[in-house]
Amino acid sequence: MDINRLHTKIQEQGRLADRLDDLNIFVRTRREQGEKEALLNSGLLSGNTIAVKDNIAIKDEPLTCASKILMGYTSPFTATVVERIIAAGGAIIGQTNQDEFAMGSSSENSIYGPVRNPNDPERVTGGSSGGSAAAVAAGLADLAVGSDTGGSVRQPAAFCGVYGLKPTYGRVSRYGLVAFASSFDQIGPLANSVDDLIRLFVTIAGHDDKDSTSADTPVPTLEECLDGPVPKKIGIPRSLLKKGVAKEILVQLEVLENFCRKSGMDIVEISLPHAPYAIATYYILATAEASSNLARFDGIRYGYRHPSENLSDLYELSRATGFGPEVKRRIMLGTYILSAGYYDAYYTKAQKVRTLIKQDFIDVFREVDLIFLPTAPTTAFKIGALINNPLEMYLADIFTVPISLAGVPAISIPAGKDRNGLPIGLQIVGDYFREETILSFCRKVEQANLF
Ligand code: GLN
Repeated sequence: MDINRLHTKIQEQGRLADRLDDLNIFVRTRREQGEKEALLNSGLLSGNTIAVKDNIAIKDEPLTCASKILMGYTSPFTATVVERIIAAGGAIIGQTNQDEFAMGSSSENSIYGPVRNPNDPERVTGGSSGGSAAAVAAGLADLAVGSDTGGSVRQPAAFCGVYGLKPTYGRVSRYGLVAFASSFDQIGPLANSVDDLIRLFVTIAGHDDKDSTSADTPVPTLEECLDGPVPKKIGIPRSLLKKGVAKEILVQLEVLENFCRKSGMDIVEISLPHAPYAIATYYILATAEASSNLARFDGIRYGYRHPSENLSDLYELSRATGFGPEVKRRIMLGTYILSAGYYDAYYTKAQKVRTLIKQDFIDVFREVDLIFLPTAPTTAFKIGALINNPLEMYLADIFTVPISLAGVPAISIPAGKDRNGLPIGLQIVGDYFREETILSFCRKVEQANLF
């Protein structure tokens, strides 16, 4: 590998990052360190720079999840994905801004302030992996990793105009990812091209003894992802697209459909009868899991501690002043949902609905190879537009959360721009552990220059 080339690239991206500092993409950089580590190895990611979301651990680096409660905390260990990236020769050049604890759809819920969209700085990047998507979109890093619980890789990828994959649940180790909702969380790659995305995906995927939920299922090879099985039948759940989706997004979906028809694929209508319950189900289960996962941030064990006279004040004041409003809202909702008397009405019921949603996808994938959906109902909205209306904000995830509930893999691909010049994203969903079908299809779409 050409050492000088990597050095020059890191310098150039650093200068560009300084010029674009107002976009608030990185919370911290480690260009020299990243370069040094990268040069110790060589592999699939040699010569590439990678940005990592601030909820993924790197030994001896701060890890804050964009939260005050983790200020001053430094990670004592490294996440498996980071280890794998470094072992493949990748240079980890910085940690990216995000919604606090990955809760949000706009990357505005951050102690560092909102991330701004490189396509229009008055607009949000989407969230919660907004910094990772923007870093790739603005050319500040070749590749990035984010985490996706209900859409947090796919929706910012759509808003910023890049590729973003949520792998099958269990495909990528969560060891070293700060848990938000453990039964949904999945780390995923972001890139400007499908080939780049594939290299990062095959690097980070695969079983890890340190994560008991990581699947022991063979990972597709680079070749299988580049040139995998050609899909024959595509399903579109038209009834979900009748209301509330921007027209320009539906037009791009049609462009993709026409391409498939011309390539000899069948497009069929499918139904996902329980998908209309996905938002409610997700926000019950994700908040319940979050309330339990975030109980550990008590002012004693990690980061920030509020000065107090006694122990109960210490807990109370550290949590009251350490968490931001959206995180507190979720902890309260989740605690309520799990409380005696309400548990069965909400949590148990939502688990049952999750099973039905999962079954919808299992049934549909008996018939089709891929499903198409928009990634989000709109393009990037203005900063501040939805921040005081959480329910409205939650609807930004209407097309991503059903996939997260089922655990199937899905990618958001850039599909042109709307009349304001804002990127449009389309979502391609595949069957469990069939990332290679999605990725090789996306490569054909990219080569066809449809958008
Ligand atoms: N926007 C969704 C939420 O707020 C998803 C976030 C995520 O995927 N981390 O929960």
